[in-house]
Amino acid sequence: MASVFTKIIKREIPAHIVYEDDKVIAFLDIIQTTPGHVLVACKHEYQSILDLPEEEAAHLFAVTTRLAKAVQQAFQPAGINLVSNNGAQAGQTVFHFHIHLIPRYPHDDIKIQFKNRIHETHEDDYLERARRIRQALT
Ligand code: 5GP
Repeated sequence: MASVFTKIIKREIPAHIVYEDDKVIAFLDIIQTTPGHVLVACKHEYQSILDLPEEEAAHLFAVTTRLAKAVQQAFQPAGINLVSNNGAQAGQTVFHFHIHLIPRYPHDDIKIQFKNRIHETHEDDYLERARRIRQALT
């Protein structure tokens, strides 16, 4: 079944579209976590970053960069978070690859937190983890 974003792309359901080209579309997230919260999505229905060809990723990120600058100019936020949830465990609810561009304002109520495990991570863990990723890249 077509994703909700594909339905937006096909104009089957309405959205506040702010940018579109042959590969990428950007529109306001319906929930507006903060004013100016934008979703940048591939037009092709890749489920997640794991399905995304690198050339499309490069174009999507270039467009996201342009949009970040436009949002900065339009809303003057104090910061911007880029978030992409990939997989249900990571919080993805629409399985059509996208990046959230979330402007941040003083005293907003958004919390994006990373747990610091520096004190429970040993040098051997860093070495092994880096080794596994480097090996997977070859
Ligand atoms: P995810 O949870 O997959 O990272 O993000 C999906 C996002 O899509 C959510 O933030 C949700 O608000 C947004 N969304 C879901 N349905 C619609 C819709 O019909 N229109 C718009 N504009 N956004 C939607």
